[in-house]
Amino acid sequence: MRAPAKINVYLGVGKPRPDGFHPLETVYQAVSLYDDVTVTSADEWSVTTVVDVPHVDGSSVPDDETNIAIRAGKALAAHHRLDDRAAAIEVRKSIPVAGGMAGGSADAAATLVALDRLWNLDTSDDELLALAAGLGSDVPFALVGGTATGTGRGEVVTRVEDNGAWWWVVVFDDEGLSTPSVYGAYDLLEGGGHDYRIRPQMLEAMRTPHRGVEIMVHLYNDLEDAAFSLRPELQTVAEVALECGAVYSLMSGSGPTILALADGADDARAIAGRLAERGYERTTVVHGPVAGAHVVAYS
Ligand code: ATP
Repeated sequence: MRAPAKINVYLGVGKPRPDGFHPLETVYQAVSLYDDVTVTSADEWSVTTVVDVPHVDGSSVPDDETNIAIRAGKALAAHHRLDDRAAAIEVRKSIPVAGGMAGGSADAAATLVALDRLWNLDTSDDELLALAAGLGSDVPFALVGGTATGTGRGEVVTRVEDNGAWWWVVVFDDEGLSTPSVYGAYDLLEGGGHDYRIRPQMLEAMRTPHRGVEIMVHLYNDLEDAAFSLRPELQTVAEVALECGAVYSLMSGSGPTILALADGADDARAIAGRLAERGYERTTVVHGPVAGAHVVAYS
């Protein structure tokens, strides 16, 4: 399976709900940075993380049953009352860990679909989406892919028509940033309830063929100030990206990954080159939107 990373081209965050979750209105986009997940039937559950790209540090990824890929596999087995089933899962990681690009969620979505196929379970899309929502807020979107809105805590996903060809330079950070710490900082900084809803004009603008550039006025992330308060150097990265020619810079999800919007593929590569000259060498060029978790090989 290939499972794409996500970015949030819009992320509005409300005040915490009684259950502690923050209500969100987000526009997700799946981009061409993937984890590859392979499953094999086995007597016991196991997960192996393989990293062969310099921008990923896999050392904090658990190799026990707390890994979200195993949690996904067990949830699917339990749903079908097949608790005796198990699988060996291999995750080849290119999505940064704790980078705000939902790598764990991608692995979970890929595992759900992979085991559904391997075990011929024929789980309906609605059931897969419900299982995904039980695993984490970003997992349903990792199944759906493309461009979609996310509401609730992000798990209520609706496809939107996006006729954009977006090119981004992804600027990785050396260290991850924990999602709960960013939300904690957000609660301290954001006192009053503001209007965090997606503007209908943004969704309208995405229907007309575009390159992101034309609609950059709508790009927004409510968590930026919170993440920048914890890690001021991230704001510098966002500013340097603009100096290097990005038409807009935006933090991905809860950070620390910074996204530089480019006016096409050539422009993206040129920006990446200039960023490297300024000392930011850990970058990659991606495009979006791409498909959600999908099978690439079966044997
Ligand atoms: P989000 O944007 O959804 O908050 P993220 O990209 O910031 O996600 P992830 O890389 O998905 O963060 O995972 C965060 C933490 O979850 C990791 O630090 C790790 O300890 C734990 N984890 C569990 N399973 C996985 C997995 N398969 N891949 C990565 N991290 C995992």
